[in-house]
Amino acid sequence: MTVYSGPVFEMARTQFNVIGDHLDIPLDERDRLLLPKRALTISCPIHRDDGTVAVFEGYRVQHHLTLGPTKGGTRFSPTVDIGEIAALAIWMSWKCALVGLPYGGAKGGVNVDLSKISKHELELVSRRYMQEMIPFVGPHIDVMAPDMGTNEQVMAWFMDTYSMYQGRTVTEIVTGKPVSSGGTLGRREATGRGVAHLARRVMNELRIDANNATAVVQGFGNVGSYAALELHRFGLKVIAVSDHTGALHDPRGLDVPALMRHAASHGSIKGFSSELQFDPAQVLTLKCDVLVPAALERVIDAKIAQHLRCRILAEGANGPTTPDADLVLEKRKDEIFVIPDILCNSGGVVVSYFEWVQDLQQLFWEEEEVTRREYQILDRAFELMLARARADRIAHRTAAMAIGVAKVRAAKNTRGLFP
Ligand code: GLU
Repeated sequence: MTVYSGPVFEMARTQFNVIGDHLDIPLDERDRLLLPKRALTISCPIHRDDGTVAVFEGYRVQHHLTLGPTKGGTRFSPTVDIGEIAALAIWMSWKCALVGLPYGGAKGGVNVDLSKISKHELELVSRRYMQEMIPFVGPHIDVMAPDMGTNEQVMAWFMDTYSMYQGRTVTEIVTGKPVSSGGTLGRREATGRGVAHLARRVMNELRIDANNATAVVQGFGNVGSYAALELHRFGLKVIAVSDHTGALHDPRGLDVPALMRHAASHGSIKGFSSELQFDPAQVLTLKCDVLVPAALERVIDAKIAQHLRCRILAEGANGPTTPDADLVLEKRKDEIFVIPDILCNSGGVVVSYFEWVQDLQQLFWEEEEVTRREYQILDRAFELMLARARADRIAHRTAAMAIGVAKVRAAKNTRGLFP
């Protein structure tokens, strides 16, 4: 029995057991690796603009602290629950280990519908969430970052709230902050850039010419928009994008910079064009060279996996592909090159790590150095994954996760059980 339940947690468990079998991890060692070290549930009461009091439930799950502090984003969404947050924390652990960061995984969330609260109420929820988390987090314990529904402004409120309670400015308590408040250059773009960088690498491997290639991006938040922009810059035609308000499709290629400007001022892609509107349900199965799911988890199930018509699946989201879909993809004759989430979207946490290092040292880097080092880490992890997949004849996801899980396992086993 565990308190962590629900389809996303079951997905993380199923994936882990595939790796457990592949690495021959004894059954009595598996719970120690999979189950989170600790988790906190809180209530965030706030005064609403109309004078009433509202309470929002919040969570933070720290998966393991074996390699250093935990690291991970904070999600504001009306559907989060502790099982989903735990799964996302577990994936952060494999991700950080795969790319060699000195962190365990964490994730947090607040169950709140952002369309139903004002900006002022959002500030109150953000500050109250961080204030309740103070006994549980710290620059050497657990370092937060943005995720779905949170952004640089929310990170600035988190940092300010923590700092006010400490009586001094502690920028290193969160990453993904505005550059004006101790953030790093290149963090905002980091996840999307990393996705596009790896997609381009695979295009080179498969000899796909960027100037004749097409891309489809599901999700137009921080990850999807910067991935689309970067692919557009590389010469690909971005023929479709979608977000929670709808989808746009243009076989001639969308004007991504204009779309980004529109989304920045209107909050979504809605209203950009009436002619280009498209059925969001059909976005994932459009024919294209590069498909980037950059929204929610579990959007590619076994049925969609059968109908995918991309050559490269670059997973910008966390957990977009279910284990059933993985089995379908492994059997498909027309091999789709999967860049698994824990590698593909890891540019975000890699640059978060750079931000934390810069804050601790109070020594700041040029953007060019941030991005160069980001790509260096991504390239190294990509090569490791590919070599492992080829040597063991396993799927890319299995290879990437096996590398991550094995690193955490080795650290746990050499440190031993305390006492
Ligand atoms: N939320 C992001 C992720 O899922 C970033 C985490 C971070 O930067 O710590 O990878």
